[in-house]
Amino acid sequence: MFYPEPVSRLIEGFMKLPGIGPKTAARLAFFVLNMKEDDVLDLAKALVNAKRQLHYCSVCNNITDVDPCHICSDKRRDASIICVVQEPRDVVAMEKTREFQGQYHVLQGAISPMDGIGPEDIRIPDLLKRIGADETVKEIILATNPNVEGEATAMYLSRLIKPFGIRVTRIAHGLPVGGDLEYADEVTLTKALEGRREV
Ligand SMILES: [Zn+2]
Repeated sequence: MFYPEPVSRLIEGFMKLPGIGPKTAARLAFFVLNMKEDDVLDLAKALVNAKRQLHYCSVCNNITDVDPCHICSDKRRDASIICVVQEPRDVVAMEKTREFQGQYHVLQGAISPMDGIGPEDIRIPDLLKRIGADETVKEIILATNPNVEGEATAMYLSRLIKPFGIRVTRIAHGLPVGGDLEYADEVTLTKALEGRREV
């Protein structure tokens, strides 16, 4: 490369981020070089602290700085309903609707045979253990993404959970097909939640 070594390393670092190609990485690197040193330090600290201080909730697998997370330990929330989502970002999307008052379970992915991801590779065993041990659970809302992997995961879970005698529902369609839950606006997501159907 034509850049001094520290600059090249910074560019390579940015290129590891999703959706960042060489040009964008170079633009970001030079932006950082022009930032005030204090701001660069704040950014570096935020990166390191986020990585060090956050871990997964031992109950729901959401990212948290306390364990159990704020949602799991909130006694005002309805422990009889668990909403199953793929990613921590989906929890944020659901929380923004202010409609859902139950608990969550974050799968940290979806079943995807194409990518070699099976049920054991995501937090499905944890979910089964959780509902097997907790008799207060009356409904599982499957809020995986409305794409091939999300639907396959929802179907798989529905088959596994029904024998527990728990109501299993799937959020309504109307979400953009192929889109991720996190990109749905609050109104669409609220409607999808209200219109959930037994599966
Ligand atoms: Zn939790």
